[in-house]
Amino acid sequence: MGRTLGALIVLLFAMKSFAGPPDASIEQRVDAVLSRMTLDEKLGQMSQSTSLATPLSDPMKEEIRRGRWGSFLNAGSPADRAEAQRIARSESRLKIPLLFGRDVVHGYRTIFPIPLGQAASWDPALIEQAARTAAREASAEGIRWTFAPMLDIARDPRWGRIAESPGEDPYIAGIVGAAMVRGFQSASLRDPSAIASCLKHFAGYGGAEAGRDYNPVWLPEGLLRDVYLPPFRVSLAAGAVSVMTAFNTLNGVPATGNPFLLRQILRGEWKFDGVVVSDYEAISNMVAHGYAANDREAASEALRAGVDMEMVSTSYHDHLKSLIASGDLPMKLVDEAVRNILRLKLRLGLFDGPVSPVAQAVVTTESRELAHRLATESAVLLKNEGHLLPLADSVRSVAVIGPLADSPIDQMGSWAMDGRPEYVNTPLAAIRQMLGSGRVFYASGLQNSRSTDTSGFAAALEVARRANVILLFLGEEEILSGEARSRAFLDLPGAQEALTSEIARSGKPVVAIIQAGRPLTFHKTEAQVGAVLWAWHPGIMGGPAIADLLFGRAIPSGKLTVTFPRTVGQVPIYYAHLNTGRPPAINELGIPVGTPAEPTGYTSKYIDVDFTPEYPFGFGLSYIDFAYSNIRLSATTLREAGVLTVSADITNRGRLPGVEVVQFYVHPVAASVAQPIRLLKGFRRVPLQPGETQTVTFTITARDLAFYNQQMQLVSEPGRYQVWIAPDSVRGIESEFTMLRQRQ
Ligand code: BGC
Repeated sequence: MGRTLGALIVLLFAMKSFAGPPDASIEQRVDAVLSRMTLDEKLGQMSQSTSLATPLSDPMKEEIRRGRWGSFLNAGSPADRAEAQRIARSESRLKIPLLFGRDVVHGYRTIFPIPLGQAASWDPALIEQAARTAAREASAEGIRWTFAPMLDIARDPRWGRIAESPGEDPYIAGIVGAAMVRGFQSASLRDPSAIASCLKHFAGYGGAEAGRDYNPVWLPEGLLRDVYLPPFRVSLAAGAVSVMTAFNTLNGVPATGNPFLLRQILRGEWKFDGVVVSDYEAISNMVAHGYAANDREAASEALRAGVDMEMVSTSYHDHLKSLIASGDLPMKLVDEAVRNILRLKLRLGLFDGPVSPVAQAVVTTESRELAHRLATESAVLLKNEGHLLPLADSVRSVAVIGPLADSPIDQMGSWAMDGRPEYVNTPLAAIRQMLGSGRVFYASGLQNSRSTDTSGFAAALEVARRANVILLFLGEEEILSGEARSRAFLDLPGAQEALTSEIARSGKPVVAIIQAGRPLTFHKTEAQVGAVLWAWHPGIMGGPAIADLLFGRAIPSGKLTVTFPRTVGQVPIYYAHLNTGRPPAINELGIPVGTPAEPTGYTSKYIDVDFTPEYPFGFGLSYIDFAYSNIRLSATTLREAGVLTVSADITNRGRLPGVEVVQFYVHPVAASVAQPIRLLKGFRRVPLQPGETQTVTFTITARDLAFYNQQMQLVSEPGRYQVWIAPDSVRGIESEFTMLRQRQ
């Protein structure tokens, strides 16, 4: 492959202003308000507080009147928020509205599956509807800004926040992010049911060393640009109007004081004109990082870098005035920040019309139905020996066992502060409803997922012996994933593995249904059960969704957007890795987990575990076999401005209708910067009736093949490319094409 500049196709993508063209009337209003503001009022707009306690205190009312705060997060009752807004809008000097933000991450009152689960549905249309529902509910209670979607590429399941992310791959993460943005923001931000989205955490946060939350992140610029930034870029193109900085240092510089990220890339290259908000106290955290000597320096670094609003810590309020008075910082920086904040408030229509009356978010039949569908589509069938699933209706009785069979709070997962246990339909309740209580025998076996108290085992075994089939509900409590919930062990916590062994003694068929916020290593458990259904933390309708899947009222179609390791020692393990110079051969598999073997060759592998993952990215079984055949290309060559199509036939070989998530991968055989062995470039959810065949077609252009070269130019390079249309990231049918040199 040629390496001269002539052989490169340098891609200069047209930049568009993401939230649409600048709106002249909004800009005029921004200027008009800004020109009348005092410095104190400006600093107020740049300050976000969490202390809007209920009931609203008189001192707080006075602060709002004075314009001390521009925004509140996760605070106040709906009535307090409405009252605070009334005061700001009618009693403050300039009548600047407040902006109420909240972590509406995977639902408000109607809690949907955790984002990592939603991504496993590969169904952006449904994800968008879920976000729309969340926005409707949240806005009814006075929330017009959500700190979502979280778009951190996460390749380390030790990191608890993997639960909040769309997983390990930038392509699917961008699609999920954009769908959420469209759902939250609706067609127009001025729609009273629209809430502004906030892409977080910018940037690199998911790369925390050793999977320990808040840890340093070291990413070469090419990797940052190729993998960690694209989901943000794509979601901004979908219209996102705010971005949150990350807690971590990126290559030694805190993301919250990072001009390269915020000024060069976000504002400069991407032309972003929305709001940049810090993460929670992340400005003052720069002192602990060892980047700023004190809060005053931290305030200065954050503003210079381009952080418009400070979340919770008060270094802007406390220090910017004197930094400006001393000439250390130009007023222009403050004005820019306030401009961005006012622009967002105007875009949301907050200055106009009456203050919305207090309403209540209600869970409706429609929202439950949506949550049901998304939980159903999110679940991933990982094992189904001898077609144990679906269970026949004729199964006389089932034993429901395990700490997550009837645990409403856990089922909702991380970031469900507005969820209510009374709205949760648990698996136990749903299975009882489906089969009738007389056919369902229940014993939790363990009180919670971490419990090591085995005193409930005897009752569980007793229940197991009475039933025809055992449904074993294992996993992680919600509190084990999410922020600051990193784990060094990825096994099923507590005595769950022992519970599985105990239950297996009954000799009855066992189905394990696992609810968790991350991939776990559960090899021994898996070996003792006939089927494994991975349900994530599925939200309020997880119970009916699981019951439907177990009894064949729904057919599993979810596929993983994150790799499951065999053991924590393989982490980080992800599909889109580079090859080594000595890739292992497939016949070097077969080493039982944890038993050191003689090395068979000097290749890149482990001597005590297979080099492959337990379950690869993209993997998920169904009750149906789908056949892939007849891959073909519209041409064998691709020119710079050309388009190539790649097609294949997908056939439902089963006796049930189902949906197959068909994936499209590419790999440049040689490039000036070595490229991952496969990269996802497309996917399709294909519904197929029994016996039906459909042709699935993907298109590819030079732009789709672009990566950052050694000079940090976004380029496509000529040469041979392999392509796969595939059921997951390791299998599939393969072909290839050649991208031609320019002028060839
Ligand atoms: C998290 C953010 C969240 C913020 C406000 C922080 O601790 O990192 O993701 O939006 O708190 O709750």
